Amino acid sequence: MEIVRELVPPDRRKPLFADPLQLPFGRNFTDHMFTMEFTPAAGWQRPRIKPYGPLALEPSANVFHYSQEVFEGQKAYKSAKGEILMFRPQENARRLNRSLSRMCMPEIPEEAILEAECELLKVEERWVPDKKGASLYIRPTVIGTEAALGIKPSSDYLFYIILSPVGPYFKEGFNPVSLWVSDQYSRAGSGGTGEAKTGGNYAGSLLATREATRQGYSQVLWLDAGEHRYVEEVGAMNIFFVIDGALVTPALGGTILHGITRKSVLELAPELGIRAEERRLAVDDILAGIDSGKVSEVFGAGTAAVISPVGKIGYRGRDHVVNGNQTGPWARKFYDTLTGIQYGEIADRRGWVFIVR
Ligand code: PLP
Repeated sequence: MEIVRELVPPDRRKPLFADPLQLPFGRNFTDHMFTMEFTPAAGWQRPRIKPYGPLALEPSANVFHYSQEVFEGQKAYKSAKGEILMFRPQENARRLNRSLSRMCMPEIPEEAILEAECELLKVEERWVPDKKGASLYIRPTVIGTEAALGIKPSSDYLFYIILSPVGPYFKEGFNPVSLWVSDQYSRAGSGGTGEAKTGGNYAGSLLATREATRQGYSQVLWLDAGEHRYVEEVGAMNIFFVIDGALVTPALGGTILHGITRKSVLELAPELGIRAEERRLAVDDILAGIDSGKVSEVFGAGTAAVISPVGKIGYRGRDHVVNGNQTGPWARKFYDTLTGIQYGEIADRRGWVFIVR
């Protein structure tokens, strides 16, 4: 790709933050962004790296009305040797394309996505924090830009990538979070868009999340939309349970996001010494198992927090406390192993680490 570069002069670039570990999630952005446009006649074209700044779109643009929008969430890490590392970015590129295809939007060649990310990261190298726990969050996004009302796919699209230096996702550190089970609202239904990473899924989840927060919980644990009986996933994480010494997560069935952290946990499990299963999990069985001690650990898995231990689940007015509200050994083991690989501290025998060159 011939990427045109319009770079901010070095003396006009933003100052870095003194302590990246204090940075909140997604509030600060780097100096540059990547953009590429799609037209039916030319396909994906005009790749460029330019100053981070507002987009100019018509108020009638498709994304504002019919929500053709998909995005990704991934991170760049700095190794002790000073290399910029990404974790399985090919999986994010593949998932971006699956989301695009589901939302009736044009796919982008995987190599172009990776090249765009690498070239932007190289320009923004100084923004990749060199403290473990902090990272540079990468947000590739595609939107329908055609200026026309009427429900049909947009003719034109914009692909852009923005970068945000972030500290640890949870301010409470690696400590258990609480979940609230919603038996009224659903995130995704059969045949819907649940496994696409598209903004509408998140907009639809906000009301329940606000209710969870009002009741003192940090996130929602979603159940299936049909019977409100089977556990699916959390707001921005997949969910794992340690049941009778085995690691169990809900099977993917079209409504659950194909999490890359989820996939990595499942692939690491045998090596770390725990049997892993994907199957349907009824919420009543899980909660009874927590109360009896049969379910010894619950944790979420996702790019933002990597592994997030769960200490309490509230359902129909009752709290079920997991493992005495303490972080369990498996959550700790997966967290240490995954972050060790991501920061280049543990040998990467699977080819998961991608060095930006
Ligand atoms: N589930 C949802 C709804 C998400 O938004 C995310 C975050 O991307 C995940 C699960 C975890 O996916 P990943 O591990 O690829 O970050």
